[in-house]
Amino acid sequence: MKAAVLYGDNDIRYEDWEMPQAEPGEVLVKVKESGLCGSDIPRTIHGGAHFYPIVLGHEFSGEIVETGEGVTERKRGDRIACVPLIPNRNDPQSQKGNYSLSKGYKFIGSRIQGGWAEYVAMPWENTVVLPENVSYTEGAFFEPITVALHALNIMNFQGGRDVAITGMGTIGLLTLQCARAMGARKIAVFDIDRERLETAREYGADLCLNTLEEGFKEKAMAFTGGVGYEVCLETGGVPVTEILCLDLAAPKGTVMFIGTPHKPVTLQPNEFEFINRKELHVTGSWMNYSAPFPGWEWEMAVYLFDKNLVKTEKLIDRKIPLSRASEAVNDLTVPGAVKGKILFECEK
Ligand SMILES: [Zn+2]
Repeated sequence: MKAAVLYGDNDIRYEDWEMPQAEPGEVLVKVKESGLCGSDIPRTIHGGAHFYPIVLGHEFSGEIVETGEGVTERKRGDRIACVPLIPNRNDPQSQKGNYSLSKGYKFIGSRIQGGWAEYVAMPWENTVVLPENVSYTEGAFFEPITVALHALNIMNFQGGRDVAITGMGTIGLLTLQCARAMGARKIAVFDIDRERLETAREYGADLCLNTLEEGFKEKAMAFTGGVGYEVCLETGGVPVTEILCLDLAAPKGTVMFIGTPHKPVTLQPNEFEFINRKELHVTGSWMNYSAPFPGWEWEMAVYLFDKNLVKTEKLIDRKIPLSRASEAVNDLTVPGAVKGKILFECEK
């Protein structure tokens, strides 16, 4: 079979690769569409891969073409989305159902070979069956959307609250749509990119603010009658938006950090004091799993796509054959060249 194999920084080669076999308890998946995640950027261009050569890709959909010994819960022809975490079931956190927090897990597409390939073999538990009217493209978004849903799950998100979301990248735009579908009252979103903000408006945001424009914070507060937002969801992973969330939160509000941080953050005393003075709940979220594995997040993703409550069209930068993976990875090194999700078509 063919795969896009990473040999080093910005060195991806589309070449022949060993065909995987479905071991007992596993299924062999013919990959249809496979995404390039923000978390793949350090792996592909900043020396961040666990080993080389490696086939990345943990956000993908496909069709089961073979089942290994003992597999009764899946069958040939099932259309699936990949669930990339293979928990270490002996870890105490796994036993409590906190799979994302466990140690010693395997991860398809970063710790073991992944889905930038024509075929992947994986445990059947690592597949979620797609309903008929959920496309393979939507299936490739199950991994990122469950990141948003996990945050909402562990904070016991309730509808009827005003919500602020910072960062309108893939995760931000998915978080927005999940919060909308789950009954958020007013949603204000924040970014520096005008196009992304327009997409956010189309995808359900009530107020879209550019943080480069003067007076945005006053507008945001006025939108809630000066009270602030009961729920602030941070997906940008940059100091400006991290601090902004503490500022925008209503008294007793919850600030949820989803975005992976990339830079040091310095809080001035008055900024830190937001936490004290407003008695904020400041919390974080990691990955996308809960008990029973893989969790409510994945069931909810099925529901949201099945009911057409989430759109992905404008989240996609381009869809290209896997054979052109190196060109996409090369673009990651050019500022502004990639705006949104790159999807690889793995049959071409
Ligand atoms: Zn991802």
